[in-house]
Amino acid sequence: MIVEIRIDYEKCNRCGKCVKSCSFGVLEWFEDRPIVVNPSECGRCGECQKNCPMNAIYIKER
Ligand code: SF4
Ligand code: SF4
Repeated sequence: MIVEIRIDYEKCNRCGKCVKSCSFGVLEWFEDRPIVVNPSECGRCGECQKNCPMNAIYIKER
């Protein structure tokens, strides 16, 4: 099962909450923004989405 995680940088306010809330090492901070480094490790816990104040994270199984 491949998980696609997309961050909408138009919406993202760079708060960093998604990176802090992911305990699976999927998201990392890079320069000025969160990036997806390990989508295959995603546990689909939904914490990043829950903690994102801008509703900027999309997760899709494909
Ligand atoms: S759903 Fe959970 S494991 Fe997947 S990126 Fe978000 S916080 Fe990390
Ligand atoms: S929690 Fe949402 S708004 Fe904050 S850095 Fe992550 S994607 Fe951007």
